[in-house]
Amino acid sequence: MSDPIIQRRLILERRPQGVVTDEDVVLHQAPVEGPGDGQILIRNHFFSIDPAIRDWMSERPSYLPPIRIGDPVRSTVIGEVVESRASGFQPGQLVVGIGGWEEYSVADAGLFSSVELQPGDEEQYYLSIYGAVGLTPYFGLLEAGKPTPGETVLVSAAAGAVGSLVGQIAKIKGCRAVGIAGSDEKCRWIVEDLGFDAAINYRTETDMVAAIARACPQGVDVYFDNVGGQILDATLLNLNKDARVVFCGAISSYNSTEPVPGPYNFWQILARSATIEGYLVSDYLDQFPQGIAQMRDWVSEGRLQFREQIIDGLENTLDAFSLLFEGRNEGKLMVRVAP
Ligand code: NAP
Repeated sequence: MSDPIIQRRLILERRPQGVVTDEDVVLHQAPVEGPGDGQILIRNHFFSIDPAIRDWMSERPSYLPPIRIGDPVRSTVIGEVVESRASGFQPGQLVVGIGGWEEYSVADAGLFSSVELQPGDEEQYYLSIYGAVGLTPYFGLLEAGKPTPGETVLVSAAAGAVGSLVGQIAKIKGCRAVGIAGSDEKCRWIVEDLGFDAAINYRTETDMVAAIARACPQGVDVYFDNVGGQILDATLLNLNKDARVVFCGAISSYNSTEPVPGPYNFWQILARSATIEGYLVSDYLDQFPQGIAQMRDWVSEGRLQFREQIIDGLENTLDAFSLLFEGRNEGKLMVRVAP
């Protein structure tokens, strides 16, 4: 009998308070176990590094159960099936789904789907532009934001993976696109390279209500909110009648240790007959193939650009994760664990 494969895994040892540290998430070594009935064993190639993982580490109620203490940190992964005890999956097949920050994952086959690479595709595109992160702006803007030509779409974390695509899709749909981001360089990139109409650096603006009013002289019809907090509050005072707020994320509070105040200007939702929709891309799973096909067309026509940042090595995963909360990631962040 051959020796078991020993793998490295990042285990959630305790619930983080504030920023995640290497005492919360600890590197362990363990033998790789075989799959049970209905399961597959995957050799992970890339982890998706997402802000939502911070939420899954906490105990508060969410759309997925908290990661259990002692389990590897949950993450979307792409990798290759090594062993299968589930129908429809064979060794060698490339799959994407919910695994963990570990070199090998054993998972229920229902959490994974097969990936057929098209000419010109790179594997990790299925964690970025053709994965949940690319489809988040697609369904979020079009289905929840319902923009019509000529309207103003404002988006926060606008130079990030989701936000940079929101503004570009808004332009494709004939809207005015305005982005809020955390540096002059990011603001330049979204306007000069991606075609946004205007950008606001929230770190250097002292009055965000006035800055949004200047950048959106006709008011805001759709606000695609990735950050919550004070930026949401300032936007609420700039909404047009019947505006739509797509509540996609609230990264400004993910590491908070105190109760999060506000939004103080919530009354504006009533005053403007606005709607605010809690939006989850996973509610659109059955429409992913159509979404991917449309994103693929826009990419091949040169109408959508996307940026990826790939960090090598499982041991660098936690450092990579912290980039998101410091605004130091440049595009869709992923960790490569195997070639
Ligand atoms: P990302 O935007 O590529 O990276 C996160 C960015 O957030 C950072 O680069 C930083 O950019 C900004 N940020 C960090 N801390 C901030 C703070 N305190 N205040 C304001 N901005 C801050 O990440 P992403 O993967 O595309 O995710 C963006 C948002 O979408 C997150 O809230 C995420 O949870 C959400 N999301 C939701 C769904 C869904 O189905 N609802 C799916 C995917 C993602 P700056 O330099 O501009 O500050």
